[in-house]
Formats: sequence, C-alpha cells, structure tokens
Amino acid sequence: MIQRRKTRQVVLGDQQHGIVRIGGGAPVSVQTMTAGYTYDIDRCVAEINKLTAGGADLVRVAVPEKKDTDALKEIIPQVKVPIVADVHFHFQRALEAIEAGVHKIRLNPGNINDRDQVRDVIQACKARKLPIRIGVNEGSIVERRDKQKRLKELGGVFSDNKHGHLLAIMVAKLEEYLEIFHEQDFHDIVISAKSIDPLLVIDAYKAISERFDYPLHLGVTHAGPKETGTIRSVVPLGHLLASGIGDTVRISYANDPIYEVQDGLELMYILGLRPRKGAELIACPTCGRIQVDLFTLTQDVRKKLAEEIRLPIKVAVMGCVVNGPGEAEGADVAIFAGDRRGIIYVQGEKVANVPEEQILERLLEECKAFQDRVERGQAKLGEKKVDILPPDPIGELGSGWEKVQRQKKGTALPVVPGSRP
Ligand code: SF4
Repeated sequence: MIQRRKTRQVVLGDQQHGIVRIGGGAPVSVQTMTAGYTYDIDRCVAEINKLTAGGADLVRVAVPEKKDTDALKEIIPQVKVPIVADVHFHFQRALEAIEAGVHKIRLNPGNINDRDQVRDVIQACKARKLPIRIGVNEGSIVERRDKQKRLKELGGVFSDNKHGHLLAIMVAKLEEYLEIFHEQDFHDIVISAKSIDPLLVIDAYKAISERFDYPLHLGVTHAGPKETGTIRSVVPLGHLLASGIGDTVRISYANDPIYEVQDGLELMYILGLRPRKGAELIACPTCGRIQVDLFTLTQDVRKKLAEEIRLPIKVAVMGCVVNGPGEAEGADVAIFAGDRRGIIYVQGEKVANVPEEQILERLLEECKAFQDRVERGQAKLGEKKVDILPPDPIGELGSGWEKVQRQKKGTALPVVPGSRP
C-alpha cells in the first residue's frame, strides 16, 4: 500500500463533464492531450470522446489561436470530460478559453510571464473557481528576453553540472512565478516540472514536493515514440508514484494519445493506486517449449478481453504446463498450451482441452461465463488459485510424457502417478 504525500486538493469539472479532484487523497487521475487541431471541431470532439471512452479523466487541448478558443464554445457542450486549455504564448487565449467554459488552464512560466497578464488570468480563474496548472518545462525554462540572464542560465545548462543547474532554474522559476499567485491569494494550483531526462524529472518533483503542498501533475516531456517512450516515462513516474508523489499523470508519446491513457491507467493498476477496470492479462514470454502461436493468441485475447470483459478477471495465457501453473498462480481463468492444443482452467478446475484454433473462442466463452457467475454472486474473483501439478496435463497435451518416451527410444521410464502410460 503506497502512502501518498499529503497535498491541497483542487476540484474541477461539472455535472455534465464529471467532477475530478486532484490531490488531497483523491485517486491519481490520468490525463492526455488531443493530437489534432482544436479548431477542427468535429474531429476534436471525436478525439476527446474516444479518449474519454478509453478512460481519460481529463483531456487537454492546445489553443494557439483565437479560432481554437472560439471552437471550444462548440466543443465543450459535446463532450463528457473536463477540458483543460493549454495556453502557451498568449494570455488572451487563456481569457478566451475561460470565457468558452473550459475547466482548467495550463500556463507555462517560460512563455507567459508578464505579471499583469498572469494576474488577469488568475482573476478570471478565481471568478469562475477554475484551477491553474503551472507547467514548468525544461524545454522553455531558460530565459529568452533578458540577454544577460539568458547567457548566465545557458552557461549553467552547458556546464558539467547541467542536471543541477536545470534543477535549480526550474525550482527558482517556479518559486518566482508562484509569488504572483500568492499575491492574489490564489491557491487552486497544480504544479508540473517536466524534463526529457528521467533522473531530472525524479529530482525536480522530489524538490518541489518538499517545498510546496500543491498537488503535482507528473510527466516526462518529449518522451518520444511509444516503443521507447514507455520506459522513459514509466521509470520516473513509477518511481515517484511508488514514493507517494504525484496526483495526476500524463504519459506523452509521439503516437495516438489513446496509448497514453491506456498506459497511464495500467500504471495506476499495477501500483494499486486505482481499482482495475476490465480484465487483467498475464502471459508468458514464451521459450523453446512453446508449441502454439502464443504471440498472436495473446494479442487476440487482449483485444477480446478489452471488448467483452467488464470485471477485473485475472486471465493467464501460458505457453506450457512446465512453469505455467506457478506463473499463472492466482489467475481466475488460465490456458496452458501444448502440442497445438490448450487446456483451459477456471479457478483451478479444468473445463476444456481444445485444439489451437478453438482456444481463443473457448477461452473467451469461459471468461464471459465466469463473469456472469461473479455478477450473479455465484463466484468470487480471485477466490481459488490455479493449482495444477504436472505431469498429467503434459501428457494430456501430448507434449510431455509421450515426447520424452519417443526421445528416449524405448528406454524404460519410471511411471509417475497420474501420468499417461
Ligand atoms: S510458460 Fe512454458 S513456454 Fe511459457 S515461458 Fe514458461 S516455460 Fe516457456
């Protein structure tokens, strides 16, 4: 059980879009950002709705131009999730987005730092009780306008202690920016401090969590394609969350944002930070013992479970019965593959032995039947563990005993109780 850091809480949303609480012991929310143009209203609505159906708790949209904030007036009534406006370069976009009915604003201190302009945004948010995320980002943290200051900061960035200098700049800029908010007695604040460097992300959030009690939005900036971005994101985010730091999360990939939602939720599930929705799939990595196309089977099972199973049923897809039973321990439904066949178990009881081409269909049938029994109160999730002792199933699958006998070319083998002769 992870002990979460105590923070203030911000609340956003409304009846139509749902209420999301960030910090103060609320479940860690998962957010993402649309990849399309906000002004392309129908596509933007479709993308937001897809992300909402995928489990996003809040969705951020970019509003670089007036046509984007104008579009928000039509988008917001058509979606069912709180919308965050990401304001990068012009404070006027923030005021327009607030007027359009957005639920939260993100400001980047690197890009909007005129005190009067920030004050205007704060006052507009205060009037509507909207929170603001102060999003410090490594990519835009170095001073741009003041040449002397820029040279000094860049000198630090290009020194041997880049990590330490960037960390110091991030924290200092954040403290300076927060002063404007404190002067206005505004505390509906969420903070982020993103970098492409996972170690800097860890240190930055730790430093911030020690200084402020505002809820934290975790993320790695420019994490790259999903194939490598997963590791880059999950290492720091997993570390911080396991340490109790982090109240909302955005994983960012150069890919369809639905993957950000899926991986963000999976991170919450495996850390026990949120109760799982839908089935949990475990599968063996396969090895030289495999005798079915387990990679294809696992992907097919994953898709079908996502479509058809509502409950957090634990399903195991195992390549054989040699190590499979131990690895599948605790699964509600398990399949152990053998010589072009699969044996299916439901809570420790063998229910089928089918050829490879029938495994997917039968496994899904068993999962759905088990789900129905759980919903009728006739079975309980995780009640009986898989408990299968070889060599009997090996013989039944035709992959063990007979094979060994053939290889031994008639050598007498000791009879193992329960095995096939
Ligand atoms: S379950 Fe069997 S096939 Fe899969 S990795 Fe383990 S030993 Fe290999």
